Amino acid sequence: MVAQLRVGILGATGTVGQRLVAMLEGHPQLVVTAVAASDRSQGKTFGEACVWRLPGDMPSAIRALPVRSPEPPLDCDIVLSSLPADIAGPVEARFAAAGYPVISNSSSHRMDDDVPLLIPEVNAEHLKLIAGRTQKGFIVTNPNCSTVMIALALAPLQARFGVEAVVVTTLQAISGAGYPGVASLDITENVIPYIASEEEKIERETLKILGRVEGGGARVRPAEFPVSAQCHRVPVVDGHMAAIRVRLGRKAEPGELRDAFTSFRGVPQELGLHTAPPCPILVRDEPDRPQPRLDRDAGGGMSVTVGRIARDRVLGHRFVALSHNTIRGAAGAAILNAELLLAQGYLNP
Ligand code: NAP
Repeated sequence: MVAQLRVGILGATGTVGQRLVAMLEGHPQLVVTAVAASDRSQGKTFGEACVWRLPGDMPSAIRALPVRSPEPPLDCDIVLSSLPADIAGPVEARFAAAGYPVISNSSSHRMDDDVPLLIPEVNAEHLKLIAGRTQKGFIVTNPNCSTVMIALALAPLQARFGVEAVVVTTLQAISGAGYPGVASLDITENVIPYIASEEEKIERETLKILGRVEGGGARVRPAEFPVSAQCHRVPVVDGHMAAIRVRLGRKAEPGELRDAFTSFRGVPQELGLHTAPPCPILVRDEPDRPQPRLDRDAGGGMSVTVGRIARDRVLGHRFVALSHNTIRGAAGAAILNAELLLAQGYLNP
């Protein structure tokens, strides 16, 4: 029997934290041994502090864990962080300095030169940024919840055709704002054409993810095509959608894009990682798909569903992508990152 890695979750009581707790129940390699949250929750057990908002019951094994302050030391081998961005930066840096591998959902360190912004199917080679380090602690991040599906969908197009320009319009679920999120009186029967910093995150993170490692692992040279994003909050509970227009580097039939999406596989599929979906990108051919309610749980919430692949009069091609923002866009992304790090020898029990 392989020893399990002991996981501490920072922000365990929140929207992403609860997804992490749920997805790690019964995980073959990872076991939750510590939870941390704000001073509102500290000193209580997880069962007392956390109002469980996912279907089914809170996993029983975690109920009695005491909620700690998010500061080292914690009783764990690695840290999964889902803290708000305004506090995650220094907290995650202190854990890394104290020798903990930190796998973060927060935006604070995503653009740091020595921090991989990782989608295991797309840029596993970016782990070279931490390969030569001498200290035990480091930070690895997953992208913003919309960026992850946009970059995943663009990756096979970049590899096969080249990408020269991207215009993306998102329709993002309420749960992307954490709990309690947008006030019901603001979002019911409404669309809000503003999500703070979201457009900038999509535009810069996509280019880092699709960039190349250079200097023997010293830095990432970002991809060089322009990305333009407009983001909207819509009255959907879970599941972000993106309408994407793309100018490719060469002529291609829509069927060739379809083939690039459906045949795409990455390192997690080759390695058979526990949380990896068999197909990272699924294509729906019905004219009215993808839809959040019907497609967000595809591949256990880890597959991106693409549809509406067509020619576009302005940029050449267009399609619609959809993924589960708290699974592939957050908790599942972090867990898949941990599984890749474990498989490639970056984490030791
Ligand atoms: P959330 O529902 O508001 O949860 C925040 C968590 O952080 C709670 O556990 C909360 O604990 C804790 N916390 C808040 N203030 C704290 C403080 N001062 N000190 C220590 N802990 C504190 O937010 P979320 O949606 O889970 O998002 C968490 C992070 O993930 C954010 O950085 C967000 O940008 C990122 N993210 C979210 C999504 C998504 O779809 N929601 C997707 C990708 C990335 P209490 O319960 O004690 O208040």
